[in-house]
Amino acid sequence: MKKKGAYWRKKLHRPRIRHVSLQDFLWLFIALFIATAVFVIYQADLTRSVSPLLKQVAIASLSFLALSILITYYEYHAFSKSEGIIRRGPKEMVVALTFDDGPSPEYTDMVLDVLKKHQVKATFFLVGKHIRKYPQVAKRIIEEGHEVGNHTYSHRDLVPSSKRRLYKEIFETQKVINEYLGINTRLFRPPRGIFSESVRKFVVNHGFTLVLWSVSGVDWAKMPPALIAKRIIRYAHPGAIILLHDSGALIRSEGHSRLNTVRALDRIIPALKEKGYRFVTVSELMNISAVEETSVSAEEFAIKY
Ligand SMILES: [Zn+2]
Repeated sequence: MKKKGAYWRKKLHRPRIRHVSLQDFLWLFIALFIATAVFVIYQADLTRSVSPLLKQVAIASLSFLALSILITYYEYHAFSKSEGIIRRGPKEMVVALTFDDGPSPEYTDMVLDVLKKHQVKATFFLVGKHIRKYPQVAKRIIEEGHEVGNHTYSHRDLVPSSKRRLYKEIFETQKVINEYLGINTRLFRPPRGIFSESVRKFVVNHGFTLVLWSVSGVDWAKMPPALIAKRIIRYAHPGAIILLHDSGALIRSEGHSRLNTVRALDRIIPALKEKGYRFVTVSELMNISAVEETSVSAEEFAIKY
């Protein structure tokens, strides 16, 4: 029997094999398609029907679109080079609920009430300045046995950013978490899931695990509760890390109503329980020993990398 947690310790310090989904192919296909279109337009003799300027504008805008898709894809998926990152846990009947951008004086309490009602533990990625603003709400998260992760101090995008700003965003939050909650966290999630290679390196070198997600509720898009719930119940899979929000807004770091998320949550938990899932925190997910995967991964990675 392998020691608990050995799997993740090994795995997190080596590049991991990604599960390539159909969606990944779709994005790459679209980018490739646009690139081909650019090439065709470039090659075609359009002098009679369109002006050279229009041709150049078309090429430039299509190239920009293709590049944006590739960059977005890289930001979210990092083309398989993802040491120190987790997007999902081992394939066991567990899921981890995560809530970003809190604490919020209105909605975090509501989320906590729903979690309490269903006796489920979750992980909250808190924004440093929000903890300072609403320390009592943040304290309740800890008091009720949930886990807390670092979601930067100001919730501004980390790309591009200097080492100095990165340090401030991450360690100012660590300070606040320690000061108000009396704990330390090694879990970090970048705002909007956007990070660069230098952000990843910085985070990993400072002993954090960069926690992303494998199922998003897309609750920031003001979807009705039934849709948020339907989406999550449909896409939930063994070892899923589910992303929801208990605060936040599209542009500012707080302000939107999260009532739909709260209502969706009340449907999601019983539905997933019925499917046989158990709810764990992100750390618990990382510590679940997956013996059958360990035996393959350790040797395979050693040879490959
Ligand atoms: Zn966020």
